[in-house]
Amino acid sequence: MAETSGKKRRIVSGMRPTGNLHLGNYEGALKNWVRLQDSGDYECFFFIADWHALTSDYADTSAIKQNTIDMVSDWLAAGLDPKRSTIFAQSLVPEHAELHLILSAVTPLGWLERVPTYKEQRDNITEKDIGNYAFLGYPVLQAADIIMYKADYVPVGKDQASHVELTREIVRRFNNFFGDVFPEPKELHTEVLVLPGTDGRKMSKSYGNAIYLIDPPDVVREKARMMITDRTRIRRSDPGHPESCDVCQMHRIFVAGAVADSFDDDCRNARIGCVDRKRALADSIIERYGTIAERSRELRERPGEVVNTIKEGSSRARLEAQKTMAEVRRAIKFDWD
Ligand code: SF4
Repeated sequence: MAETSGKKRRIVSGMRPTGNLHLGNYEGALKNWVRLQDSGDYECFFFIADWHALTSDYADTSAIKQNTIDMVSDWLAAGLDPKRSTIFAQSLVPEHAELHLILSAVTPLGWLERVPTYKEQRDNITEKDIGNYAFLGYPVLQAADIIMYKADYVPVGKDQASHVELTREIVRRFNNFFGDVFPEPKELHTEVLVLPGTDGRKMSKSYGNAIYLIDPPDVVREKARMMITDRTRIRRSDPGHPESCDVCQMHRIFVAGAVADSFDDDCRNARIGCVDRKRALADSIIERYGTIAERSRELRERPGEVVNTIKEGSSRARLEAQKTMAEVRRAIKFDWD
């Protein structure tokens, strides 16, 4: 249960400002955030992890602000409500940097070198130099982001679970030196959908296979039209194989099971062609995400409002952060009052 003794449990989660969100980002995280907010069971803090973007994109920061506005437009369009959730930018709450520095002092280097995503990314990212100090330390910044608000839960995908575990280890070490300042946050695992992209691999901006929430209908139709189908189906009269066809598998995600079954049957019996199925797929995407896309486009026409929302949320977050940091400074005997 999310509430104990009348106090709502806290959730903290963030996203790097990558710009327009794709359907995979929505299904894999944002939809869950909106659901947690709408449940009314949690006090939600959602932040733009712009300093995290800096750890790897330090050589060119020119896109970060616009990417932030685009991403937050998608957040708001999808249903995040600044009256019910605190939506803020990490860089507008500089206390995160202070806590990061203090946690850096108590975090053994070996813990960071062992983080699986660190090793993986060092091996796989070749287009930029991530041999920098901040990149190694980003799980410490992440720990600061979470514990600053004394989060009870962190909604995470499986690949992020090790970061929350590391946060708990850092909390234990800090509390061991300085007293029980921070609670240990727990992961909040939820069933999320991993969407395939237009080439069948996981949907990802870097693979160039993404359909974006904001894509207008003609773009969605064009992306669906370009999807690769069964190469063994040469003639329109050849039977289809929906179980191994990306178009059919993706279509199944967006329509009711019975509707997908009926389309599969038509494919199997060559009553429809790939073009028909792709059209049906595009229709289902437009129907499901069309309202979000429209709202997001409207918000982007008023970027000042989006920026104000971020600033207001950041001021609220900062009040919380200042309370925590006063406690931290007392605990580490760096208070001068
Ligand atoms: S869309 Fe239907 S007919 Fe086309 S390849 Fe897929 S299963 Fe076969």
